Amino acid sequence: MSLSNLAPHLPRLFAKRGLPLHLTFFVTARCNAKCKHCFYWDSLNKGQTDLTLEEIDKVAASMKRVMWVAFTGGEPFLRKDLPEFAKILHDRLHPVTLSINTNGIKTDEIVASAERLVKNCPTTFVGILCSLDGLQATHDRIRGVPRNFERTVETFRELKKLSAHHPNMGAGISTTFCAWNQDEMDEMFEFVVKDLKPDNWDLSYVRGKPMVPAIGVADVAKYRRLKARIEQAFASGALNYYQNMPLSRVVHAKERLATKTILETLETGKFQTPCYAGALSAVISEEGDVYACEMLSEKLGNLREAGYDLAKIWEAERARSMRTFIRDTKCFCTHECNTSINLLFNPAAYPKIGREMLREWTQPNRVENFGSDRPHHDGVKVAPMTTQHPVLPNAPATPVAALAGAVPTDPNGRAEKENGTGQ
Ligand code: SF4
Ligand code: SF4
Repeated sequence: MSLSNLAPHLPRLFAKRGLPLHLTFFVTARCNAKCKHCFYWDSLNKGQTDLTLEEIDKVAASMKRVMWVAFTGGEPFLRKDLPEFAKILHDRLHPVTLSINTNGIKTDEIVASAERLVKNCPTTFVGILCSLDGLQATHDRIRGVPRNFERTVETFRELKKLSAHHPNMGAGISTTFCAWNQDEMDEMFEFVVKDLKPDNWDLSYVRGKPMVPAIGVADVAKYRRLKARIEQAFASGALNYYQNMPLSRVVHAKERLATKTILETLETGKFQTPCYAGALSAVISEEGDVYACEMLSEKLGNLREAGYDLAKIWEAERARSMRTFIRDTKCFCTHECNTSINLLFNPAAYPKIGREMLREWTQPNRVENFGSDRPHHDGVKVAPMTTQHPVLPNAPATPVAALAGAVPTDPNGRAEKENGTGQ
């Protein structure tokens, strides 16, 4: 991995114009799990024609450098050519990091593919996160696959062994916090921190419209407490945060700030920070549809129809209108990846990130509780975040509502784009 890959992105701290530097790629809509919290569930396995390597190469040729690529789906490793897919992006776009979420079901295939992929991307830090939503019974119940827990744990252990031989790789755990696992997180914590010892433990609050709606109404106070425990584990050294990743301390400080921002959003249902989706961040579907983010349903264009030229879509009126809408309506949500980019590229957030770093250096034994001791927050339950969407380009800007327990009615009678995955 190389820090020199980061420098070209620094001007974007001040200039938001230009092609995206954060790309979420839905590499396939095929999946071998049936997760009850998945909000992409009704788009899976519908016979979509994934972009081919040749098509991906043309798309990448139309772009400039990117900072972060996130592979998601579907199950990304069901694509046999994932290492070649990654190599194209590595060679053409020089990402600093590539993150991949996997459900970990097909151990041998995943580990063999991961090894080829990591070798194909020598100057990129590759973080592979195995999804684990609870201990055996809970995980398998949520995921709908017998022995899923056992297989995912085995995959994680093998990936961890692999990462020991590849400094540009980290193996982490990703958990979607939901109504079905929120009450066994103490046991889960012991297992993850003391037994698995991942390079990162990524905890996401359930979002979108899950297959089983009741799974999406989780207790924010419990989420906050688990976040605080994980942070304590990082502070005490019981958990690492991708030690080999460039600027991992800065990134981790920014992650703490992102957690605070997301909790504030969940509890207040109010805008916290400007969103750069549609400017710095883009989402590309397996068939080449381009979106500003995973939540807004308005498609900006299709790469096949645009001659594989992302700039053509990104600079068109539709994309410009979307950027204006997002800015003018102060759109907000709790999506972790976007919150992360929104803070990292907002100069106004830097004093706060600096304070987080200072605390880490001056108070190594600090207690970070993310406000867990605020009793009036106990028992706050929040439904998955959702948004209202405009019909671009001529619709009047509709303020986006993302309210706790009060999912707004879509004024246009349109379905929210259920794109994205908890993996
Ligand atoms: S829903 Fe709004 S705030 Fe959330 S990522 Fe999309 S544009 Fe940004
Ligand atoms: S959450 Fe991920 S692994 Fe689970 S069904 Fe959805 S796409 Fe598949």
